[in-house]
Amino acid sequence: MTFKYVPEPFRIKMVEPIKMLTREEREQKIKEANYNTFALKGEDVYIDLLTDSGTNAMSDTQWAGVMRGDEAYAGGRSYYNLVEACQDIFGYKYIQPVHQGRAAEKVLFGLLLEPGKVSISNMHFDTTRAHVEIAGARAIDCVVKEAKDPSHIAPFKGNMDVERLEALIDEHGKENVGVVVMTITNNSAGGQPVSIANMREVSAICKKYDIPLCIDAARFAENAYFIKQREEEFKNSSIKEIIREIFSYGDMFTMSAKKDAIVNMGGLLGIKENEELYQLAKGRTISFEGFTTYGGLSGRDLEALAIGLYEGLDENYLAYRSGQMQYLAARLDEAGIAYQSPVGGHGVFVDAKALFPHIPYNEFPGQALAIELYKEAGIRTCDIGSYMLGNDPDTGEQLKADFEFTRLAIPRRVYTQSHIDIMADALIAIKERASEVKGYRITWEPPILRHFQAHLEPIK
Ligand SMILES: *Cc1c(COP(=O)(O)O)cnc(C)c1O
Repeated sequence: MTFKYVPEPFRIKMVEPIKMLTREEREQKIKEANYNTFALKGEDVYIDLLTDSGTNAMSDTQWAGVMRGDEAYAGGRSYYNLVEACQDIFGYKYIQPVHQGRAAEKVLFGLLLEPGKVSISNMHFDTTRAHVEIAGARAIDCVVKEAKDPSHIAPFKGNMDVERLEALIDEHGKENVGVVVMTITNNSAGGQPVSIANMREVSAICKKYDIPLCIDAARFAENAYFIKQREEEFKNSSIKEIIREIFSYGDMFTMSAKKDAIVNMGGLLGIKENEELYQLAKGRTISFEGFTTYGGLSGRDLEALAIGLYEGLDENYLAYRSGQMQYLAARLDEAGIAYQSPVGGHGVFVDAKALFPHIPYNEFPGQALAIELYKEAGIRTCDIGSYMLGNDPDTGEQLKADFEFTRLAIPRRVYTQSHIDIMADALIAIKERASEVKGYRITWEPPILRHFQAHLEPIK
């Protein structure tokens, strides 16, 4: 099945040179980085797909907004512009800017959770899980079963398993469930979307048991675009109408603006109507982030964010963005390379276990593919598998992940069709010599979040 590339709905006004080192230089650089892609210097990378977070290209209008940013400590114009944009798009009364998504989690979760309580989510993102635990509570993931099978095609693989959600509330007692979190799109499941139908069911359950529903909204626009494509009821709705509908089911949201709001730094906390909660959140923002009208950001950041939120809703832009993923996925289909399918909203999660069946989980197939992609074409990616998961904290044994993915996260408005072709060509070249690729062993690792810093060596 071929997919016609959706042309870029912009032209290029400013460029940032990149260069590809020779294969020998790349082999030397990755060895010096102890085979950890996080330890590579950015300038030694040709195409950087490590993350889509904060790596977005801003528009001329956003850069003009940077110049207009109001740097007043209190009550700046840019703050009011941002609040107005958010109230218009999301329909929530109270908006608190913060410096990034995890800051919103830190401010909010301390108010909802405490030891003995749980947070239940379709899937907690790493920092979300960390802040649940920092608040003394425990995080439980409750995604639909099909999310765990990369070859299973379903329209909304990010959904919450609602039957299990009710069973979990029953098991823990409703008074012990501090919050239910809906992550849209479901990042950890490969950028898979959540349907409005599922939002409605989850919201009804939360109302029945009087549990607050928080939307983890980093990729709210990509999720809305999937709903428009795949959920019959909304095929004629605008992206903005769909977003209003999604948010109408939540009580609050946390957002990393470094994703769909197309800026390089920023975050938001939104509260629909609970004034008491907002007052408490303002107090915590002042202690952790800064005064409420800047929340750890510069006025120029607030201004660029207010503009980026609207640019991210543009349907031509969303068709192009989603088209990049679909085009890369179609090229992989032709070559028989497996990935989390259907392809998600912010990247392609290649199934390294299927590509390297001879490399066991404890020799890290996802990391082996990330290293090959750098050696092959200077492409930087990361492992989303057993290497990232780490060891059992009690036994010290390597854990076995559900998936062994290598994630090609695509930054917004940064790369063109020829870059996407280079990604596909590199994967195809690696597939041709897949049986020769070896696994890796860890020679040094820190106790937590080891994948950012560990040292590895190839197994001879
Ligand atoms: C990125 C992300 C976060 C954390 O946001 P930061 O801006 O990186 O702090 C939280 N949840 C989801 C789903 C994310 O993708």
